[in-house]
Amino acid sequence: MPGPTYAELLAAVRARIREVTAESVRDALAEGRPIRLVDVRDPHEWAGGHLAGAVHVPLALLRPRIEEAVPEREAEVVLYCKVGERSAFAAEALGAMGYRNVASLAGGIVRWAHLGLPVARPSRMTDEQRERYRRHLVLSEVGEEGQARLLAAKVLLVGAGGLGSPIALYLAGAGVGTLGVVDSDVVDLSNLQRQVLHSTRTLGRPKVESAAEAISALNPDVRVIPFPERLGRDNALRILEGFDVVVDGGDNFPTRYLLNDACLLLGTPLVHGSVHRFEGQVTTFWPGRGPCYRCLFPAPPAPELAPNCAEVGVLGVLPGVVGLLQANEVIKILIGRGETLVGRLLAYDALETRFQELKVRRDPACPACRPGARPELVDYEAFCAGGR
Ligand SMILES: [Zn+2]
Repeated sequence: MPGPTYAELLAAVRARIREVTAESVRDALAEGRPIRLVDVRDPHEWAGGHLAGAVHVPLALLRPRIEEAVPEREAEVVLYCKVGERSAFAAEALGAMGYRNVASLAGGIVRWAHLGLPVARPSRMTDEQRERYRRHLVLSEVGEEGQARLLAAKVLLVGAGGLGSPIALYLAGAGVGTLGVVDSDVVDLSNLQRQVLHSTRTLGRPKVESAAEAISALNPDVRVIPFPERLGRDNALRILEGFDVVVDGGDNFPTRYLLNDACLLLGTPLVHGSVHRFEGQVTTFWPGRGPCYRCLFPAPPAPELAPNCAEVGVLGVLPGVVGLLQANEVIKILIGRGETLVGRLLAYDALETRFQELKVRRDPACPACRPGARPELVDYEAFCAGGR
């Protein structure tokens, strides 16, 4: 007597396991249910695109590898393949291993994609990158998709000083693929109390060069585009063009207004930070989504009223704290996760170790961002140069 045909075998297995529809999985994921998606296809199929947040355990390696991928026997596991046949066999195998809450995705990734549900882009990460970013890859909020976004991202850092140092180092560490660095200064001995991007060895060298060296040493994945020039109305749009996010590490009024207005013109999110003595502030200006800098401060103070920054001290760690908050904002904007500081200004008091959050609202009459406004770039007098 001949054994069962494949069709008969499949039908029998299907009768014994549980199948779930793409729609129900989509809804459950949207509700935040901690479903473990397991892709059981071959590596080349996985590389061609897969469900976001899935782990890859090819069917042939399912039994030896599944415990590493999904250690908890009571976890809710949804297995999928191309059309839902291999995953049906996989579901039966996991059931036999004691996994109690296992289902097979009916119709597989083909039906999932047919419904227009999101499929993560194929990864082009090397083994070395996988190792370097491992602690990001295991975070479901970052994962392969988030890391790919970081690697493809272009961030412009204005100022490679106290704020710019932690921003540059941590964005480089995180694998932000392209970092533009704008700074016209050279490294001075008095910078090193807080500007940890530079070192005693790079004293007297242009900061953009010193920064590029430190960044490449930390992460050769990062391409540095140096702009050894002072940001002004004539070059601002040329420099900012093409960057996904701009970070203000300049900490002076002319740069602040110029960046605000240029980012409004280009529609680019701008992460703002400032430090003074023991106090720091950070917020995010995202054109169209919240207030801009001029909603808060329509015009810069008159030069005679502004503090003489050269004489004002700053606690060395303060720009470190504020710069890292800025870097955190950049990462969230790039991976599209979490809540940014749009509409919120976070103030930090280093002496008291206190954070305070202030709501900031869009001013409907703002000279720069009110509907129909087209700000003209202005060079304000640099009364606070070197203040960072
Ligand atoms: Zn505004």
